[in-house]
Amino acid sequence: MHVSFVGAGPGDPELITVKGQRLLGEADVIIYAGSLVNPALLSLAKQGTSIYNSASMTLDQVIKVMEKATERGQKTVRLHTGDPSIYGAIQEQMDALDKKGISYEVIPGVSSFLATAAALQREYTLPDVSQTVIITRLEGRTPVPEKEKLALLASHNATMCIFLSVHMIDSVMKELIDGGYQQDTPVAIVQKASWPDQKIFRGTVSTIGKIVTDAKIDRTAMIVVGRCLDSQYALSRLYAPEFGHMYRDAK
Ligand code: SAH
Repeated sequence: MHVSFVGAGPGDPELITVKGQRLLGEADVIIYAGSLVNPALLSLAKQGTSIYNSASMTLDQVIKVMEKATERGQKTVRLHTGDPSIYGAIQEQMDALDKKGISYEVIPGVSSFLATAAALQREYTLPDVSQTVIITRLEGRTPVPEKEKLALLASHNATMCIFLSVHMIDSVMKELIDGGYQQDTPVAIVQKASWPDQKIFRGTVSTIGKIVTDAKIDRTAMIVVGRCLDSQYALSRLYAPEFGHMYRDAK
């Protein structure tokens, strides 16, 4: 394969997949998303690998680097933060490679919303609380379709993981309340989940705005909203003695 899109994971260099780690070590060219990928991962590169930070590049420039490398018979790793399928702008790169007839593969990664659950030591899908996780963002320069406006999604009262929006925390909370979350619904903010300087802030839909503003958190943070952050829930049916399934008979 000429180009491998690799999920770097949320920050901790040990949270990349074994496959992603191997491909990084084999790459002749690495293009990494400099704003969020932990540079520690670049130490896996072999000597002589050309390394590009995509933060200062356009789509055309990124594709050009991949194309040149492919012409020379070299392997390129395109390293994306978390999992590349979530706010990764990977589709436009794959489509451009398709047009040029350059083959590629995608290696998934641990998304930051999952590293956030790990940091919080909470389960997003608690029985009787919520069985749904909504991954979304507030509208910024990238428009959000009308039917996916935060207030509409909030009406489900499901667990929500809100990316790319902590710098607009007051607008986020206003939409959540407009959409029907109770004022006392718990909210957690995890900044830089899995990094050494990870920070956790907790509050409610009505209190978190001030907490986040006072702490000056304006980037690289996940907003989690929902009753799953409280502790009232029903026990899972999977491990209930009276509940049999394919691998265990009911008692
Ligand atoms: N593809 C990435 C998301 C890229 S969008 C993924 O799967 O995680 C960038 C947004 O992701 C940030 O604004 C922030 O909301 C979130 N993010 C990325 N890394 C994070 C981390 N370590 N901790 C908390 N949020 C993070």
